[in-house]
Amino acid sequence: MAVECIERPSPNFDERKGPVDILLMHYTGMETGEAAAARLCSAEARVSAHYMIHEDGRIVRLVPEEMRAWHAGVSSWAGETDINSRSIGIEIVNGGHDFGCPPYPDVQMAAVEALSKEIVERWNIPARRVIGHSDVAPGRKADPGEWFDWARLARAGVGLWVEPEEIVEGPSLSRGERGDHVADLQFMLADYGYGVEVMGRYDETTEEVVAAFQRHFRQQKVDGVADISTLMTLRRLLELVRG
Ligand SMILES: [Zn+2]
Repeated sequence: MAVECIERPSPNFDERKGPVDILLMHYTGMETGEAAAARLCSAEARVSAHYMIHEDGRIVRLVPEEMRAWHAGVSSWAGETDINSRSIGIEIVNGGHDFGCPPYPDVQMAAVEALSKEIVERWNIPARRVIGHSDVAPGRKADPGEWFDWARLARAGVGLWVEPEEIVEGPSLSRGERGDHVADLQFMLADYGYGVEVMGRYDETTEEVVAAFQRHFRQQKVDGVADISTLMTLRRLLELVRG
């Protein structure tokens, strides 16, 4: 019962150098789906993804899953840096932050859900490795955005979700701070997979990684400040992973 795809082959791919074990979500960030498709198929652009999903739910296959598509760029997850070799990439048509953060239509999300379910089953991709471009390239990328419905995908068995802890007044960690609390935070983020060094100083990278975590798991407020809600949500997520 494979989902139906429109074939539109992109010339932009090469051989994988590792097993597939990541599913990576993107938004196209362009004005129209057609403009994004043209770019993903242009040899000069040297970018691609395995699939693109239009706002009306049409799924386009650009690169065969067996091949290495070019969508992640400079990125890292759980110590891996050749994310293109390890992942299947889905470009979801959405204008993104530059075009007013438009909502993902229900029919489009239904297609994302159906295709993703097939992919994670086909390749046996672990739930914690269903992630966004912003997770693997914090600071550089913000897609698929803090309005992307990860909770819905998790309910369908695609990726992980924990109910985010409520935002309340209280102490927080932010840029410039040092010490064990910062090292603990960095350890938890790195433990989940984020590319951050455990060194006890809340530097720019730490701020970007906290923002990336929030974009995915504590979407109400993305500010790079590790407040109690952020810390509790992260802790809850790690408990879920450790079982
Ligand atoms: Zn992207």
